Amino acid sequence: MSYFYPVDKANDYSTSALRKIGESELLPCPEIYELWFVYSSGANPAMNKALDDILSKDGRPTNELCLSIYQQFLRENREDERVRTAGDQIKKTIKEVNHAVGAVREFASDYNHSLEEVHVKLKEEKTKEEISEILGDVLEDTKVMLDQNTHLEVLLKESATTMEKLHRDLEIARREALTDALTGLANRKAFDQEIQRVSQQAAATGHETFALLLLDIDHFKSFNDTFGHQVGDQVLRLVAKTLKEGIKGRDIAARYGGEEFAILLPDTRLQSALKVAEYLRLNVAKKEVINRQSGERLARITISIGVAEYVKSEPIDNLVSRADSALYAAKHNGRNQVAVAPVSMTMQTAKS
Ligand code: GH3
Ligand code: MG
Ligand code: MG
Repeated sequence: MSYFYPVDKANDYSTSALRKIGESELLPCPEIYELWFVYSSGANPAMNKALDDILSKDGRPTNELCLSIYQQFLRENREDERVRTAGDQIKKTIKEVNHAVGAVREFASDYNHSLEEVHVKLKEEKTKEEISEILGDVLEDTKVMLDQNTHLEVLLKESATTMEKLHRDLEIARREALTDALTGLANRKAFDQEIQRVSQQAAATGHETFALLLLDIDHFKSFNDTFGHQVGDQVLRLVAKTLKEGIKGRDIAARYGGEEFAILLPDTRLQSALKVAEYLRLNVAKKEVINRQSGERLARITISIGVAEYVKSEPIDNLVSRADSALYAAKHNGRNQVAVAPVSMTMQTAKS
């Protein structure tokens, strides 16, 4: 086990993490503690930057922001660690099998020598007893040889089972690393990979295009403030489910950030993407958030959507920022609507 921070400073980091949790009235759960411990150690500069940005904007971090940063920066490390452990186990298994195969090979070579010796010995005239003794030795060696083969066979079977289990574990870890834990949608990492893939595919065909939708829940902060974060989380799952149900085929829905989602529509032009966006917006607006315990109807939720069609050879960043500007326009024009990002940067809004 190795630490990625100076161990003799652990007390300082712990004190500072607990102070931060106390000052900001955060939940002292393991994830939030770890987040501020790692923050104090400075071991993860990208995470510190993300937290510093939040602190300078919002002043006080909230539990869910902390958990979202934790998910983004520390949970993935955990997946990496799991993959590393599996890798170590694979190396160990390979070493064991190599060792056993080497031992069998060595013994087979010795066995071959003894048979050659027997062959020479039997050329000379021998008594019955002498022949019987020579054959006894051969039988003995053959038995050892068979035992070794059986041992190797068992070992190979065990290794195959270990490898199969590791393969399954790695597959689960790989899937988890690309899935958002709260909503079950593809996470930001998966989205970044997919948009690269889809744009490369479009570039390769030359004529194919695709569309990007950026969606953001309206007034979600006040929703959280009114009903609490657990209901907020329930809403995130509900929106995710509605989006997933509203798309089909090769379309990909991802959780892009806190209460933002992204949808990739491969091989789709702007007009069709707008229809999908409008359909999703209406489907979300139709849903009612109901208190699970009391059955009371709490509120309706709405989303705003920015839509952009990929322009040939356009850098991904540009496409995302056009969709983001369209989303901003949808918000600015009153929310609960879809806005389009034209190729020129002037925005047109498609009012509902
Ligand atoms: P707008 O209509 O302009 O989008 O307003 P908004 O309140 O939705 O936007 P803002 O960006 O100010 O607030 C987003 C809020 O989303 C802040 C945070 O409380 C909430 N949020 C982000 N991630 C999560 C999460 O994982 N769970 C919960 N419950 N809330 C979250
Ligand atoms: Mg937002
Ligand atoms: Mg919002």
